[in-house]
Amino acid sequence: MTKTPAAPRALSFASSADAMRAEALYGARNYDPLPMVASRAEGAIVEDIEGHRYIDLMSAYSAVSFGHAHPRIVDALVAQAGTLAVTSRAFHNDRLPALLARLCTLTGLDRALPVNTGLEAVETALKAARKWGYRVKGIGADRATVIVCRGNFHGRSITISGFSSEPQYRDGFGPFTPGFVTVDYNDSAALERAITPDTAAFLVEPVQGEAGIVVPDDGYLARCADICRRHNVLLIADEVQTGLGRTGHVLGAMHDGVRPDGVILGKALGGGLLPVSAFVATNAVMQVFAPGDHGSTFGGNPLAAAVAMAALDVLEDEGLCERSRTLGTWLLDELAAIDSPLISNVRGRGLLVGIEVDARRISARAVVERFLAHGLISKDTHATVVRIAPPLNIPRDTLAHAVGEIRSVFAELDADAANASRSMRAAADAVSVR
Ligand code: PMP
Repeated sequence: MTKTPAAPRALSFASSADAMRAEALYGARNYDPLPMVASRAEGAIVEDIEGHRYIDLMSAYSAVSFGHAHPRIVDALVAQAGTLAVTSRAFHNDRLPALLARLCTLTGLDRALPVNTGLEAVETALKAARKWGYRVKGIGADRATVIVCRGNFHGRSITISGFSSEPQYRDGFGPFTPGFVTVDYNDSAALERAITPDTAAFLVEPVQGEAGIVVPDDGYLARCADICRRHNVLLIADEVQTGLGRTGHVLGAMHDGVRPDGVILGKALGGGLLPVSAFVATNAVMQVFAPGDHGSTFGGNPLAAAVAMAALDVLEDEGLCERSRTLGTWLLDELAAIDSPLISNVRGRGLLVGIEVDARRISARAVVERFLAHGLISKDTHATVVRIAPPLNIPRDTLAHAVGEIRSVFAELDADAANASRSMRAAADAVSVR
């Protein structure tokens, strides 16, 4: 069947409306994007086709933690693209080893395995954990289990969707990979109860991002680490979203002073330019992989390695962990001070902040759409939470301007709600008078 109208040859569209129409016509409907078509971006500012400017308060879920088009990272990309870009791992390249060493120093771990997207790094961690379970811990063949948390988000492959507690992520995609056990997040006693001799690993996010910026109690991860150590279970931290400064530390786990046995990195590691992810682990874990056990054509390519190195330089040279911590504390205080009946909770760690709205009064999506009208890009998650996670190097006055807009959005929405209830009362009075 042919499509009407014919597929356009142009690379871009003259208007946002045209671009959105074409995407709706030719794209799968697996996303429900906000009605804004980005056309260029620099730092924390994104511009649409018509030239409207927006402050980016979600940083592509942390992938743009170091800002759009960071000049040092772009320079590294351009220089490397014209030198040596993709080699596969069939032979060595001269850029990868330095990245591997850097990832180990950064995390305090021994070996790194580079891949492309976050979910690949999660799959890598799961394969490593299972094989460690059999080869090192001595779990009987095909019996290994991994404990995961209710509310987790680790990606959308069939295996990973299979242990999601979100019905929509599973609906229609079974049968799923067995061997996963779910416990409540922020409940270390539940973890300990769930451990059996067949448990290979506990996979956990230091702050649950997609679940709605769920921040566990201080000490939760430290207690989990202690339990895992006592039961010879690997602690694997999914730091795809929380890592590389987002929560005010190089790793989210460092908030509790924890060094996991394995760390999953992604998003920000690609410097906002490329998908670059990695699983980094102790020798005991990573030594289970033999040549041929695992791999990816693009994983560890020199272009990705050069970009990731530049991204890590920016993280360190711009002091972005410290910045995320101080700016995050300021942001949290400012948002918590907004007096609106629509807001039921504000929480976060570093520059990963969630505003929870009262679901009986408004949806997070409605708030996010109003933010957009005020020149702010944010994202709703789990119907009731608005994510505020700007680039870590957002200028302070830009963030202050965004906070001012957030304040006026809530004032506006409060006024709308008051007007709506006034007219409902007036309508009710009119009915009773009659
Ligand atoms: N783990 C976590 C904690 C994530 O937040 C995400 C993505 N939101 C992923 C894994 C998957 O990463 P990707 O989309 O790059 O596959």
